[in-house]
Amino acid sequence: MAREPAHAFASMLKTFKTASGKAGKYWSLKELAKQYPNVDKLPVSIRIVLESVLRNCDGKKVTAEHVEQLAHWAPNAERTDEIPFVVTRVVLQDFTGVPLLADLAAMRSVAQKLGKAPKTIEPLVPVDLVVDHSVMVDHYGTPKALDLNMKLEFQRNNERYQFMKWGMQAFDTFGVVPPGFGIVHQVNLEYFARGVYKSPHDQGDPPVYYPDSLVGTDSHTTMINGIGVVGWGVGGIEAEAAMLGQPVYMLTPDVVGFELSGKLREGVTATDLVLYVTSILRGEKVVGKFVEFFGPGAASITVPDRATIGNMAPEYGATMGFFPVDEATVDYFRGTGRTDKEIERFEAYYKAQGLFGMPAPGELNYTKVVKLDLGTVTPSLAGPKRPQDRIDLGHLATKFSELYSKPIEANGFNQPAEKLRARYPLAHNGESAEHEPPTPKVGAPLDEVEMFANRSTKAAAHVGDTAAHAKDDGVTIGNGDVLIAAITSCTNTSNPSVLLAAGLLAKKAVEAGLRVKPHIKTSLAPGSRIVTEYLEKADLLKYLEKLGFYLAGYGCTTCIGNAGDLAPEINEAITKNNLVGAAVLSGNRNFEARIHPNLKANFLASPPLVVAYAIAGNVMVDLMTQPVGKGKKGKDVYLGDIWPSAKEIDENLRYAMNAKAFRKNYEQIQANPGKLWSSIKGTTGQVYDWPKSTYIAEPPFFEGFKMEPHAADAGFTGARIMALFGDSITTDHISPAGAIKESSPAGIWLKAHGVSKADFNSYGSRRGNHDVMMRGTFANVRIKNLMIPAGPDGSREEGGLTLYQPGGEKMFIYDAAMKYIEQGVPTVIFGGEEYGTGSSRDWAAKGTQLLGIKAVVARSFERIHRANLVGMGVLPLQFRGADSWESLGLGGEEKIDVVIGGELKPQMDVKIVVHRADGTHQEVTVRLRIDTPIEVDYYKHGGILPFVLRQLLAA
Ligand code: SF4
Repeated sequence: MAREPAHAFASMLKTFKTASGKAGKYWSLKELAKQYPNVDKLPVSIRIVLESVLRNCDGKKVTAEHVEQLAHWAPNAERTDEIPFVVTRVVLQDFTGVPLLADLAAMRSVAQKLGKAPKTIEPLVPVDLVVDHSVMVDHYGTPKALDLNMKLEFQRNNERYQFMKWGMQAFDTFGVVPPGFGIVHQVNLEYFARGVYKSPHDQGDPPVYYPDSLVGTDSHTTMINGIGVVGWGVGGIEAEAAMLGQPVYMLTPDVVGFELSGKLREGVTATDLVLYVTSILRGEKVVGKFVEFFGPGAASITVPDRATIGNMAPEYGATMGFFPVDEATVDYFRGTGRTDKEIERFEAYYKAQGLFGMPAPGELNYTKVVKLDLGTVTPSLAGPKRPQDRIDLGHLATKFSELYSKPIEANGFNQPAEKLRARYPLAHNGESAEHEPPTPKVGAPLDEVEMFANRSTKAAAHVGDTAAHAKDDGVTIGNGDVLIAAITSCTNTSNPSVLLAAGLLAKKAVEAGLRVKPHIKTSLAPGSRIVTEYLEKADLLKYLEKLGFYLAGYGCTTCIGNAGDLAPEINEAITKNNLVGAAVLSGNRNFEARIHPNLKANFLASPPLVVAYAIAGNVMVDLMTQPVGKGKKGKDVYLGDIWPSAKEIDENLRYAMNAKAFRKNYEQIQANPGKLWSSIKGTTGQVYDWPKSTYIAEPPFFEGFKMEPHAADAGFTGARIMALFGDSITTDHISPAGAIKESSPAGIWLKAHGVSKADFNSYGSRRGNHDVMMRGTFANVRIKNLMIPAGPDGSREEGGLTLYQPGGEKMFIYDAAMKYIEQGVPTVIFGGEEYGTGSSRDWAAKGTQLLGIKAVVARSFERIHRANLVGMGVLPLQFRGADSWESLGLGGEEKIDVVIGGELKPQMDVKIVVHRADGTHQEVTVRLRIDTPIEVDYYKHGGILPFVLRQLLAA
């Protein structure tokens, strides 16, 4: 008999049976609904969180009051209650996973130093790390690209991989998927997620089962929401706490219902749909909320399409973009090789809980309902700087032309309009010279629906040879030229319909005689080996290759900024002529300098459109009215001529859902992880010995650690302003992941430690070394500190610079920070709206703390970054109403006091006093964005890590 736990809701533990008669226990939500009838009408996502709260109710971390509070969730109540959510598992990618492993290793070192058993520090839930962020596209356009790129990856990352191997043997519940298998979210979707789970410690007969749920150290963890799994991205610091047995704490969320109706039109892709959804939800301000999709349209779209929509939740700002489990989810499990036993249990469990099936309109209570008729979605791209800026395909050419000369504040590039169509030969044979191409005649756009008809016979307006194509007698480049075309990212490469569409388009393009200019950096980097397998089986891979889209790696590549460099002559032509070059990628983010430091215009598009724009060569080619290119015998070929039909895509989908292929592929992780990985030798033992390395170093977060926390910092006085930033400062601005500049503080440090420029690797790969990372904080080449006065033309200086006070000497933020720390002067940052938006990146908070910054004052914060600041003991303070640093008239030379009156409480009022050079002062009240009681504890302990470590060592 199963041992009944002492539990405030013990009577809710019931039994379910699978179709073949196997029994399991479960904490019944239907039973709970007898006590709290509201439960039956709760959004599905809230009910899954409620099950976790119910199951883990131990009277300590999770209390009966927590269960009651959530069972009473009301659509429009004020949100003051905190939910302790214990997750089933944790997933990591390598950029964030390595520093997390370094923190765990540092905790073990502390335990050893304090005479405690190092094994006290051990993940309590399964932790899976996928090495996906490190491969770069150094080589492309050749069959050897994958092999060469992986060899370079292993050369560059040897020390990090050795460290991971140490971790694999030191921790019992820590697994690694080696490089070359795929992208974490795709592997999660296709392999890690197993439906329902039982605790490894459960000896009951029958055992207790519960739904999969997780947190991941990557914002796009939400991709898993596509198969009904509750999960989202958290910073590494919170993930550490989760894996060490702490609940993930959050304010009870609003849940926005998103009702989908209708059907996608012929030729419209999942990528187009997700760009629509992103742009709609950005306008709905869903930050900190769950979004739950429902209705007949949600039931009609495929599971990979749902996963694509879930993936981009961070881009629309939501905590999740959730799709409930239904028949399609079960079919997806079947098609991707989950066992019959798992599938049967999964289905039976969800049915027993009353959580199976796509909710109909009106069935459940939501905070608000947003609607979209799928039939209204049109082919789109998004950019050039933000994923929520959707552009209809037919408007891209004009949009780019307009933005070219618009001021930066209007999202433009601030260039002289007369230079828009200038072209410049590459300087391989001498100086580049300017010449003007013929002015194009632009025809009236055709209806988008018509685009997908065969239009080779239509007399559409076109630009002759187009400004896009380099002349045959030598390559020229100009504004809007596509210089990177990348089929990349988990968002899209997990979706067979868009990958097959890209392959089919490539086939038709090749057959029509189209080609891609060799200087365009083309790459195919799927998030799973399954993709190349089905593209090969469908006989389509070879056509992508013919257009230059050779397999470059199985990993994030261009999506995370690992596009590799452009040819030197291209870089030279861009910088010398101030060109606005373009990237077209099937990724989900396009913030400045993320894709390549020299490419200012980055457009997100579906994989088939990536291929089409690579052929067209310039984003000013209007694919709705102009030919994609010239085919055989100089014949104009239009997009409608090569765009695959839904029928053609469907016919090939059978290659993509092959359970056997999935099983065989993922067996290789254990059976055949690859020669390169097998040859990595890691050290052994419970405690890491921290060999000298520029990649891995013992983090300083536990220096001088004592079991008793220091008294909490009750505000500070005389702080200097480190930076004044505008809106939408991303975590990539704060802590870039990409290339390390030679002349930057991090570059100088690496060179001083014997690392040559060629071996710098990226910031992302060096997150195990705080010396590099703190020097890289605020070092994004595009960040603009508005303390530095504008130039005569209104332009702003870019890069991680500040004016050191007093005196106003211009220097790197890192250098100024070290001077302020030496003098014991605290510092603050001021920001605008959406401070810390973008990827979850704990180094954006860790680096902020290590630079001695005590508070960030902004108009609003992104969810994860705000939590991470608290988790590192930095105060997030939010302006109220229309207040801002601009309205205070700050220039950067003022001194700042932060006055916390009385005991620290969540969301309390805090006073900021601004002292000006003329002796006057001004006060403003801001809101403390420490949101929950547990966050107050974290802050008082100097952050989550010391808090958790004290708990574990005291146990
Ligand atoms: S492919 Fe892009 S979105 Fe996906 S995990 Fe990698 S970086 Fe994140």
